[in-house]
Amino acid sequence: MDVVSTVAELKARVADARKAGLSVGLVPTMGALHVGHLSLVKRACAENDFVVVSVFVNPTQFNNPEDLRTYPRTLDADVDLLSANTSAAVVFAPAPQEVYPQPDTRVFSLGPVAEVMEGAHRPGHFNGVCQIVSKLFAYVSPDKAYFGEKDFQQIAVIRQMVKICDFKLDIISCPIVREADGLAVSSRNTLLTPEHRKAAPRIHAVLEESKALVGRMTPAELIKWTTDKINQDPLLCVEYYEIVDALTLQPIGDWSESDAPHGCITVQAGNVRLIDNISLK
Ligand code: AMP
Repeated sequence: MDVVSTVAELKARVADARKAGLSVGLVPTMGALHVGHLSLVKRACAENDFVVVSVFVNPTQFNNPEDLRTYPRTLDADVDLLSANTSAAVVFAPAPQEVYPQPDTRVFSLGPVAEVMEGAHRPGHFNGVCQIVSKLFAYVSPDKAYFGEKDFQQIAVIRQMVKICDFKLDIISCPIVREADGLAVSSRNTLLTPEHRKAAPRIHAVLEESKALVGRMTPAELIKWTTDKINQDPLLCVEYYEIVDALTLQPIGDWSESDAPHGCITVQAGNVRLIDNISLK
């Protein structure tokens, strides 16, 4: 596996692969890789001949400078993990100046899908995600790109970006990988204190429990029930919990409004912001 840090090297490696008739898969990440990322890379390797994994903490998608500063960066361990567990061909790990030689002033008109939940709570976040992902798509021109359902809204936003930018590729969504206790695996979990780490599985446990109440409560009542139950632990504080349609990401007022109701939550656990989601179908 090669580690490249310039766009020119990356493009040259992909051009060679294309000349050899290989299909190309891309897995964008911010590094601090874990089993959740590996599940995406393994799937990409199973479905493509030549796989690029990008490892880049993208500054333009952080709306909180402290979050950007403390985000874990572990490139050597990431490369070891990928070479030991996958057949990915290239890791693209650029410096910020390589990707943004000048400020990226592009504004993506993403519509309602990007205006709710993370879009409302993290201004500029999805625009930054689209800036980096569109650049990666342009560098690599993959046949398929892989994203995790842990970032449920992000997948919908990226599908919208692909439509408006007319990229020709398949977006493949992959299921959430969880710890044995149910906590969604995340690079940010390493930043939790031992007490907050112990409290955090409650998020998924309560969401699971709430499934039995679908139809017996209105969406608004279920939102309140879920939020109150998670907040009963003083170490957890729900920032928002919304029940939305899985395709449009718009909140539903009644179960009859959606064939695929989906719960999306963000919880503050000490200094760490955890996100999770669940199908309520
Ligand atoms: P990140 O490095 O956090 O930007 O994540 C890179 C990709 O890995 C995104 O598409 C995430 O949705 C995905 N991912 C992160 N954690 C998980 C997980 N626990 N299960 C599945 N996919 C994940």
